[in-house]
Amino acid sequence: MSSSTIDFDIKEVAQSKINEVDFNHIEFGKVYSDHMFAAEYEDGEWKNFRIEPYGDLSISPANATLHYAQSVFEGLKAYKDDQGAIRIFRPDANAKRMVISAERMCIPPIPEDLFMEALTELLKLDAAWIPTRPDTSLYIRPVIFANDPYVGIRPSMTYKFLIFTGPVGAYYSEPVNVKIEKKYTRAASGGVGFAKTAGNYAASLYPAMEALKEGYHQLIWTDGKEHEYIEEAGTMNLLFYINDTLITAPAGDSILNGITKDSVLTLARDWGMKVEERRLTVTELIAALEAGTVQEAFGAGTAATISKIKMIGNEGKQYQLPTETPLADKLFSELDDIKMGRKPDPHGWVFTL
Ligand code: PMP
Repeated sequence: MSSSTIDFDIKEVAQSKINEVDFNHIEFGKVYSDHMFAAEYEDGEWKNFRIEPYGDLSISPANATLHYAQSVFEGLKAYKDDQGAIRIFRPDANAKRMVISAERMCIPPIPEDLFMEALTELLKLDAAWIPTRPDTSLYIRPVIFANDPYVGIRPSMTYKFLIFTGPVGAYYSEPVNVKIEKKYTRAASGGVGFAKTAGNYAASLYPAMEALKEGYHQLIWTDGKEHEYIEEAGTMNLLFYINDTLITAPAGDSILNGITKDSVLTLARDWGMKVEERRLTVTELIAALEAGTVQEAFGAGTAATISKIKMIGNEGKQYQLPTETPLADKLFSELDDIKMGRKPDPHGWVFTL
């Protein structure tokens, strides 16, 4: 039990694993903190709110998620500042997006206040796991998945909600090569591209693997119908700084509406820059690359915050981007300063514990 308004049972680990972790060399996605939050949806309600030792689950072979991917997840990060305070970046936005994803997948959403309290209690308990070296953070993974042991196709009647965390170092810090994908489709109009749901990522693996063989780290997905409109990359939204304007695809049902992208656009507008959320065609982008008016291109996402693009491939032709990237650098350091409390946070993005 805690001082929160929702009652949590807390079962702590007998022995922390933290001393087994080399915080100087943390591999992404391999190390998990001592505890996780867990809850079940049964009989039409979320219940059994608890924090327990992080560990394996027992799942029926007929588990609906294993077969039909009725699941949604989120990804966000927490930091520790120089005073030792825990700082979480825009968790309210992740809670809201998880509701949107859940509704599309017929999953009973987690109320935002429950999400926030669960996260807060978990981070307080595992505060020691938040790394402090520059560019490191605690990655937070909330997930909801169908849990019926039933192989028929229908929305599950039972679900599990978990939040687990793990320390991470810098991710994709080197500038990347990206390929404009015109054969395969990530998401179609009317589909589930805007939801953070398992199948979107499974579907992207084969095309990404093919592109990797050609030397591309990531794909630029285009629309599913004409393969002519720029959408997003595998785990980040894309921004192009062409002439004096920062351009990104508008939110829609085939694109994940990224929180980092929203933060970038907000900062750019604060700085008086010209910002356009509009459809950008491959033809327009290639023409701008050929004319040399693309000053910078970068991805925006929780993993890397800003991921600079050094080369764009289209139909076998490769276009190099300028190596000087003042805008991407300024956005990265401004967001980093806000996250770490070195600069004011005028939009109230950081939740401090
Ligand atoms: N698009 C996709 C498909 C993603 O998986 C992510 C990562 N969540 C993003 C964009 C970036 O979103 P955010 O800035 O909220 O991490």
